[in-house]
Amino acid sequence: MSTAIRTLTVLGATGSIGTSTLDVVARYPGRYRVYALTGASQLDRLYEQALAFSPRYVVVLVEQAAERLAKRLRAAGSDTEVLCGEAALEQVASAAEVDTVMAAIVGAAGMRPTLAAARAGKRVLLANKETLVLAGRLFMDAINASGAELLPIDSEHNAIFQVLPRAHREHPYAASLGEAGVTRILLTASGGPFRSRPQESFAAITPEEAIKHPNWSMGRKISVDSASLMNKGLEVIEARWLFNALPHEISVVVHPQSIVHSMVEYADGSVLAQLGTPDMRTPIAYGLAYPERVVSGVKALDLFSVGRLDFEAPDLARFPCLRLAFEALASGGAATAVLNAANEVAVAAFLERQLSFPRIAALIEAVLAQHGGLPADDLDALMAADRVARDAAHAWIARSGALIAPC
Ligand code: NAD
Ligand code: MG
Repeated sequence: MSTAIRTLTVLGATGSIGTSTLDVVARYPGRYRVYALTGASQLDRLYEQALAFSPRYVVVLVEQAAERLAKRLRAAGSDTEVLCGEAALEQVASAAEVDTVMAAIVGAAGMRPTLAAARAGKRVLLANKETLVLAGRLFMDAINASGAELLPIDSEHNAIFQVLPRAHREHPYAASLGEAGVTRILLTASGGPFRSRPQESFAAITPEEAIKHPNWSMGRKISVDSASLMNKGLEVIEARWLFNALPHEISVVVHPQSIVHSMVEYADGSVLAQLGTPDMRTPIAYGLAYPERVVSGVKALDLFSVGRLDFEAPDLARFPCLRLAFEALASGGAATAVLNAANEVAVAAFLERQLSFPRIAALIEAVLAQHGGLPADDLDALMAADRVARDAAHAWIARSGALIAPC
């Protein structure tokens, strides 16, 4: 096993993926050095992480928080410097000393630092799927131009990566999927906590119910996305860009046990799958150590206690967010950026009880109908589409959201 030390920036270190990443890193002190940790909230956790991993920098977003954290760190005898603001996120994602960047900020806020890491030619461990939904072509162009290494961390995409031919997974834009002998990507979905809940009761769904995922423990936003199946929609778009897949080459398969993390179907009829206990430390360890394999701390899969694996078709009538994502992907331009922005506003409003669960999809559909045709020529155009969609979503909530506020 090679012993070269990897120097790591963790964007979004205080979140669910960030803490799982540090859990794996802590197992290999001789193998990984932490250069920077970033967090927008939960600054007590960031403080503890800074003491445990002695990074060169921690980055926060607000000046006052930065001052308080710097004072606490100095008092504890730490040499870690505290930086502040979005430019600092890009700086620690692209610094010359860094070779690996875990992109685990949630939402479109993660796009610029993730893009900075891609442009700087880093090994990018991509958890922040919104980067690809917002700016997929631009991001993949940046990866290809700089020679950066892109390793998907989203469990489904990590599974697909593991079972694709090596040439295609490492250079997906050198050939089409068909030329690589692949006929379809089968993206599995748990179906979320409301898979078998009657649609008549969807309006009564509370944030607490929506963030209680049956198989995975995750941040609040992605948990709501999983409940609405928008997460699978975002993942279809993510797969399109990561693997150079055409939309019709991607199928969604509901698999409630979340043991098969996804599959690839080949021209000869073979279907290859990656299985495992649902725990994000597996894809994280895979990305960190690629192409080697290391212990991740994840419990071995016990097939006898799993017992059975079920598969069913997704119900697009009950979960319209998945349909909207396929439609946005098909319409091209900035439609997926608009979808993503409207969804972020809708999920935040749902979590604040300003919007009922079924209205998440209604809001996104309305914003897409209004602004789905915006152009996506460059980053400025995409950011403009993101802003327009957010404004339209807020206006929609102000107009109609209040009328149907739940309980
Ligand atoms: P989380 O909410 O637990 O953590 C998000 C992190 O981003 C935190 O460190 C937070 O402080 C930081 N952050 C939030 N807003 C920010 C902003 N405006 N600027 C800078 N930093 C900000 O989220 P998570 O569940 O860890 O998910 C992170 C990303 O990984 C998401 O894109 C999600 O879709 C993806 N992902 C997560 C999982 C999972 O199991 N949690 C699985 C697959 C993909
Ligand atoms: Mg996933």
